[in-house]
Amino acid sequence: MRNIVLFGPPGSGKGTQATNIINKFGFIHLSTGDMLRAEIAGQTKLGLEAKTLMDRGDLVPDEVVIGMIENKLDSNKDAKGFVFDGFPRTVKQAEALDKLLELRTIPILKVLSLKVSEEELTRRILERGKTSGRADDQNEEIVKNRVVEYRTKTAPLANYYAAQHKLAEIAGEGSVDEIFEALCFQINNL
Ligand code: ADP
Repeated sequence: MRNIVLFGPPGSGKGTQATNIINKFGFIHLSTGDMLRAEIAGQTKLGLEAKTLMDRGDLVPDEVVIGMIENKLDSNKDAKGFVFDGFPRTVKQAEALDKLLELRTIPILKVLSLKVSEEELTRRILERGKTSGRADDQNEEIVKNRVVEYRTKTAPLANYYAAQHKLAEIAGEGSVDEIFEALCFQINNL
């Protein structure tokens, strides 16, 4: 099983490239952001609780996303691989993911980290906000808060995976096709 983590700040292109990767390789896409938005759309209790945090650009509690991921791993036992997108986002989530995968003997092979400047991230997200319908994409202060959440809680994960010799950095500015090619090169080498 070829399991990879797509890593990078909000607006770095993880969702776009995850779609390209699953179309080419037939892996299963596990996006905690998409799962949470589905809970909101379904007006579940979890969705209603998550919405307040997401609309502010804050992270939702670790236990919530870890539980969602565990369910998806177990309902896709025959997957050729998983693409984790927007998860893990904290060291606690990364440790929990390692445990979940160890129990199932399906390790993460590579963490592909998309590098994009903070000015470019803000520009892209506000542009996406014109059509995405996402409240958290439309307000510059909220976008900035998401970037701060990333910098303080998520960016340290790069060291966590570098210590496991799994981190590969990819330039995330350029055309979608160029970036996809760089990602494919890494995946084909797994
Ligand atoms: P983006 O990558 O553009 O920030 P996502 O769709 O991945 O967007 O996430 C949107 C929001 O959902 C986050 O700002 C956060 O509130 C919540 N969220 C998604 N994944 C996680 C996670 N792994 N841990 C905590 N919160 C999460």
